[in-house]
Amino acid sequence: MRIGIDLGGSHVAVGLVSEEGKLLVKKGADILQKYKEEGRVQKFIIDTILEKIDEIFEETGLNKEFISQIGIATPGIYQNGCILHAVNLGIEELAIESKIQVKYHIPVAGNNDVTCCSLAEQKYGSLQGVQDAVFLTIGTGIGGAYIYQGKLVMPKTNPGFEFGHMILEKDGRQCNCGSKGCFETYCSIKRLRQKVRNILGLEESVRGHEIVEYIIRELGKNNQEIQKVIEDYTDYLAIGLSNIMNLFEPEKISIGGSFVHYSSFLLPKTTTKIIEKGMLFNKRESIPIQLATLKNNAGIIGASML
Ligand SMILES: [Zn+2]
Repeated sequence: MRIGIDLGGSHVAVGLVSEEGKLLVKKGADILQKYKEEGRVQKFIIDTILEKIDEIFEETGLNKEFISQIGIATPGIYQNGCILHAVNLGIEELAIESKIQVKYHIPVAGNNDVTCCSLAEQKYGSLQGVQDAVFLTIGTGIGGAYIYQGKLVMPKTNPGFEFGHMILEKDGRQCNCGSKGCFETYCSIKRLRQKVRNILGLEESVRGHEIVEYIIRELGKNNQEIQKVIEDYTDYLAIGLSNIMNLFEPEKISIGGSFVHYSSFLLPKTTTKIIEKGMLFNKRESIPIQLATLKNNAGIIGASML
């Protein structure tokens, strides 16, 4: 048995995973914006991870000797047991590995969350048997991984493919990375949710799945403000995905993250725009984009595989 931890920009999840990559138990907690503003996000993350691991041991009756390893999927850069430069969490440096190791004496490993998700999708999910692929997670931010000839491509100097920071608009919206007009400032689900919350006057406590229901209901009522939000979002998503298609010519693009819950009213519109506006250099009848099949569990499963 293994334990996988998926640390996202707004949620931390901990799971027990079998040797065959099956998620057996999952626990989690939301990381609220106010924790970041009050400067206690680091303590909250560490405390929550340790608490959820303890809960898994208690509920399953498993002894820690049965756990071969603990893996962590983190945003930002993971280096020497530390999370570095996780802009969406407001973390510059957090030594996470030692905090877990010192309590359980189980080997701990970590890697970037998108890398973990793509490992899991490639072995157990939507990218099984695919040779050339791009994996994207669209949630609090946008991250990506590139698989070429069946292997995850790892750049030598800097850790990843920053698809989310591809610039789509000259002097556009300010991004957390310091630049302006980045893909994720238009197409993160966090931004979409925020716009919907503002229009409908919803509190921060209204959960993601409830916002999905609100959007579907308002679209059904022809709420023009919500329709405009969806049109703008899919305009930018079509540009971002077309750029990726034109650069990499992947056999498949798989999209994970909380986007999967919103995909019913975002994805068909986006692919239609890509085709109808002729945004691809190599014209296609259909766009090979699909949803990650492991959904929000890919991070936990991938982390457990490190
Ligand atoms: Zn950026």
